[in-house]
Amino acid sequence: MIFDILTIFPDFFQSPLEESILRRARDKGSIEVHITNIRDFAFDKHAMTDDRPFGGGEGMVMKAEPLAAALQSIEKVIDTPRVILLSPQGRAFTQEVAGELAAEPQLIMICGRYEGVDERFRQHYVSDEISIGDYILTGGELAALIVIDAVTRLLPGVLGCAASAEKDTFSRNLLKHPQYTRPREFEGLAVPEDLLSGDHQRIEEYRFIASIRQTLAKRPELLARETFSKSEIKLLKKNELYAPIEEIRKGRIS
Ligand code: SAM
Repeated sequence: MIFDILTIFPDFFQSPLEESILRRARDKGSIEVHITNIRDFAFDKHAMTDDRPFGGGEGMVMKAEPLAAALQSIEKVIDTPRVILLSPQGRAFTQEVAGELAAEPQLIMICGRYEGVDERFRQHYVSDEISIGDYILTGGELAALIVIDAVTRLLPGVLGCAASAEKDTFSRNLLKHPQYTRPREFEGLAVPEDLLSGDHQRIEEYRFIASIRQTLAKRPELLARETFSKSEIKLLKKNELYAPIEEIRKGRIS
């Protein structure tokens, strides 16, 4: 997967791309990250990438021409890559969207600053707008890093254990079960017996039920969208969890 980032703050990307899984993914060639400094494409003597808004008002707007020139300067282009503008007005970035983007060979991401980018650049060049949440950041760099991080860990061979991404929170509409490691007892709290049983099926059933309880407690609305197999329904009924889920589905509990 190739990520191309257009930014006026290239240094933002140094440290996050040098650490841990992103670093290893780059070393292994699972991802390539190319950073283009939009300032290199400013054409006036002050290297201006922004200007005052037409119509007046506060703030500055990123100029269309340097953005377009920076975009056109990308040398390695595979097919017709998605050109993503990070924007609080975009489609919400979810695990499902991360999965969709992970299937692409290349993503180009534009990091806005100030009041955002000239609308004509958006109209002409942007194929997707993505928001990482309903709040306003100072710029798109952190949002782009979040997209890179979430997408990269879904690429084949990036995580040590591929199954761990498949069992993560949001891989279904469920939160992951609580996790425990040594010691067996911590400040009077013991690890649940089922997890120490060595019985694979018992452990799986415990984890499934714990995941349901976790979701019911923290994000019950997710359950309205989840479907269950026959054996899961049987287990839910046995643990008296099927009725509360049905209530959520009927919209009686939020
Ligand atoms: N004036 C804009 C508005 O009200 O929609 C907000 C501009 S924001 C200060 C500057 C840049 O940060 C945006 O152009 C965008 O690239 C990025 N940004 C801010 N919040 C974001 C979010 N929630 N998701 C993705 N990008 C965001």
